[in-house]
Amino acid sequence: MPATLHVVATPIGHLGDMSPRALETLREVDAICAEDTRHTRQLLAHFGIERPLLALHQHNEEAQVAQLVGRLQAGESLALVSDAGTPLVSDPGYRLVRAARAAGVRVSPVPGACAAIAALSVAGLASDRFAFEGFLPARAGARRERLARLAAEPRTLIFYESAHRIEESLADMAAAFGDGRHAVLARELTKLFETVFDGTLGELRQRVAGDPNQRKGEFVLIVDGAGDDADARVAEGRRLYAKLAGHLPPSTAAKLAAELSGAPRKALYGGG
Ligand code: SAM
Repeated sequence: MPATLHVVATPIGHLGDMSPRALETLREVDAICAEDTRHTRQLLAHFGIERPLLALHQHNEEAQVAQLVGRLQAGESLALVSDAGTPLVSDPGYRLVRAARAAGVRVSPVPGACAAIAALSVAGLASDRFAFEGFLPARAGARRERLARLAAEPRTLIFYESAHRIEESLADMAAAFGDGRHAVLARELTKLFETVFDGTLGELRQRVAGDPNQRKGEFVLIVDGAGDDADARVAEGRRLYAKLAGHLPPSTAAKLAAELSGAPRKALYGGG
């Protein structure tokens, strides 16, 4: 193999999703950069692979990049894996990939599982255009602000969520997008307790609130984009009005927000 940085996807649950090419690549490289070396060592042990592991996570990536690129330039081949799925997708690695490319090193993907794409493939929502939003901010204020900005987004929206914030996120989404917006909650994909529910955001909230099992594990939440309809225009108009009203007289703020959003001016008061 010529010196290459191989970006290798690993399973998101079911070990049968490890591809033959991923196994072959991991067996042949000089070393494997892993987000959590203990976790990856277990995965490799399952497949009988023994290669040196190098820790590369969000806290040391910046510091490790120069040394790793040096090894690649010296002719070594490295693999990059994360704890699950495709590296760089809500996972570390882009700094290493960027630096390797800048140094003229070959970077090659070994594609495989990705929770966002797996969920989209079974959601039954429009998939010709979608926006991957990853994790929402942990702090409530920042999360609500992010969701308010997305209320008028016409593309299908994909979010990652953890068990301890799923209820809050569903509540904030229902408030920002409306209880009636259609969505799909994909939980524990490819694992023993895989479930995929669809319904309105209001229905999904009820389902999660009423069943403790539905609050366990890992989640992808896929939300229908805003149609080019009156509701989406009003949501965007209210967001703009709330921002502008802090700086302008209310009537001017409402006039501008109505013009920019296409919503009727009267619908904007009292909504922000
Ligand atoms: N790089 C990974 C990928 O390709 O999907 C994602 C890593 S991110 C740190 C972890 C998040 O992905 C979880 O919190 C969850 O939102 C989602 N996820 C990972 N595995 C999943 C699964 N089996 N079912 C549902 N969501 C999953």
